[in-house]
Amino acid sequence: MLLDRNEKCWCGSGLKYKKCHLDFDQKLESYKLKGIMVPSRDLIKSQKDIDGIKKSAEINNGVLDLVASKIKAGMSTAEIDTLVYDYTVSHGGIPAPLNYDGFPKSVCTSINDEVCHGIPDENIILKDGDIVNVDVSTILDGYYSDASRMFMIGNVSDEARRLVEVSRECMIKGIEAIKPWGFLGDIGAACGEHAHKNGYTIVRALGGHGVGNEFHEDPFVPHIGKAGTGMLLVPGMVLTVEPMVNAGDYDVYEDADNGWTIYTADGSLSSQWEHTVLITDTGVEIIAK
Ligand SMILES: [Zn+2]
Repeated sequence: MLLDRNEKCWCGSGLKYKKCHLDFDQKLESYKLKGIMVPSRDLIKSQKDIDGIKKSAEINNGVLDLVASKIKAGMSTAEIDTLVYDYTVSHGGIPAPLNYDGFPKSVCTSINDEVCHGIPDENIILKDGDIVNVDVSTILDGYYSDASRMFMIGNVSDEARRLVEVSRECMIKGIEAIKPWGFLGDIGAACGEHAHKNGYTIVRALGGHGVGNEFHEDPFVPHIGKAGTGMLLVPGMVLTVEPMVNAGDYDVYEDADNGWTIYTADGSLSSQWEHTVLITDTGVEIIAK
């Protein structure tokens, strides 16, 4: 779609095209002509979208802070689910996982060799030494945010603690590798290098994703890869960075009974942290954490 320089910009800013996204579009076009994959316009958030996603993330961050203050040995994962549901709804939000593709609960709780998508249950009790991922996603006024944290229950082994710490570093390094007009592969290269250097592997079958106007948008964000490859990253994109780091092999399988929970194939421990980030004109901003 070609806009006249003096028409209002497509992004909804109300500014004239020449004062807003004209240079941006020309730059994008120049990359496209070089054969580089560029994001479609629907992946570029408007300021209104960004404000909405940030408000959603305020609830999401509040949920995770609440879980952090309450989680302990002896608690069931269903109790975590109740905390998440009650906090989210009382703040005007909706837990995004609830009824998503038939998911029965408001949060994913994944323990030890569970990689992700664990389903809260009153019979699953957190024990001393467990490591657990709590993955929270919120909808507010149609805007989505998504983050997860690891929690170490009581006295965890040195081995588990190191995995949890290194997996967080992998996420941070992935985020730090993001720059406007950089490449999607920069993220995976940074996450993967740090995991491998520490003797761990990165799950390949699952990855991060665009987020904001939907729960899961393009692009798929691999946490392993080659710098300088893949889709161009541009200001206005909102993504999750969420490397799943395994102590053993990267292979995983899905629970045949519940159709959701993902486990490490070799039974080794897995750890994951997730932030939602916004690519800005000058760098990257963490929105949900
Ligand atoms: Zn614009």
